[in-house]
Amino acid sequence: MIQPEAKLILDISDLHVSVEGQNILKGVNLQIRAGEVHAIMGRNGSGKSTLAKALAGHPAYSVTSGRVDYLGKNLFDFDPEERARLGLFLGFQYPVEIPGVSNIEFLRVATNSCRKENGKDELDVFEFEDLVNDRLKIVQMDPSFLERSVNEGFSGGEKKRNEILQMALLDPVLSILDETDSGLDIDALRVVSSGVNQLSSQTNATVLITHYQRLLDEITPDFVHVMASGRILRTGGRELALELEQSGYEWVDKELQGGGDN
Ligand code: ADP
Ligand code: MG
Repeated sequence: MIQPEAKLILDISDLHVSVEGQNILKGVNLQIRAGEVHAIMGRNGSGKSTLAKALAGHPAYSVTSGRVDYLGKNLFDFDPEERARLGLFLGFQYPVEIPGVSNIEFLRVATNSCRKENGKDELDVFEFEDLVNDRLKIVQMDPSFLERSVNEGFSGGEKKRNEILQMALLDPVLSILDETDSGLDIDALRVVSSGVNQLSSQTNATVLITHYQRLLDEITPDFVHVMASGRILRTGGRELALELEQSGYEWVDKELQGGGDN
C-alpha cells in the first residue's frame, strides 16, 4: 500500500519524445514511489510503448524535451545497459529470441552483472542453479526451459513466464511490463500476475502497461493512468480501470475534441 513519504523512484516531467521525426509523447508527467503499482491504459497508438522504450533508452526514440529522474538522478545520463544494472527492468510486448545462447547462461550473466553493480558477490554456476530453481517456482516453469536457447520456439505464454523469471532473478527496483498480458491464456495470465504480486514489495515499484482490464483483476493497481495522444489524460484509482471496462474510451475522444489538454 501507498506511503505518502515513500521514496520517489521515477519522476517524469513534461516528457516529449519523437520517433522518426514525429512527435509521439507530448508532455507526459508521472511520479512513481516505492511500494506502488501503476497501470497505464489507453487505446492502441496512444504512446504507451513509446514511453516504455524511451525510458529503456531505445535508440529510435528521441527525447526532445522534458526530464526523467530515476532514483534522484537524470535517467538520460545512463546508457541502456547501465539503466538495467541500476534496477530498471523492461518487459517487452514482443520479447526477443536469441538463438544459440542458452537461457540459463543468459540469466546467469544478466543476474551477475546486476549483482556486481549493487555490490553483491557474483554467483558461480552451482549457486546460480540453486537460485534459479527456487525462482522457477514463482513462474511454475519447467526446468527444461533453462537449457533451451533464450525464447527460441517459446510460446507467447512461455516467453512471458520467462520474462517474469528474469524479473525474479534480477530483483529490479522498477519493473515496466508492456502488455505482459497480451496473447496469454487464463492460466498463463494467472501465473504471470501471481509472479508480479509475489515480487512486489515496499522497496520496488511496478508499471503495468495494458490494453485490457483482465490483468487488473489479478493485480490491483494503486493508480490507473489513461494515455491518449501522447499524454496522460486522466489518473485515478483502480475504479478508473473498471469504468473503462464498462464505458470504453469514448469519453477520451470527447475530452480530446473538447480541447481539454490536461
Ligand atoms: P501503444 O503502445 O499505446 O499502442 P505506441 O507507443 O506503440 O502506442 O505508438 C504510438 C504512435 O507512435 C503510433 O502512432 C505509432 O505508429 C508510432 N510509432 C511508435 N513506434 C514507432 C516507430 N518505431 N516508427 C514509427 N512510428 C512509431
Ligand atoms: Mg504498445
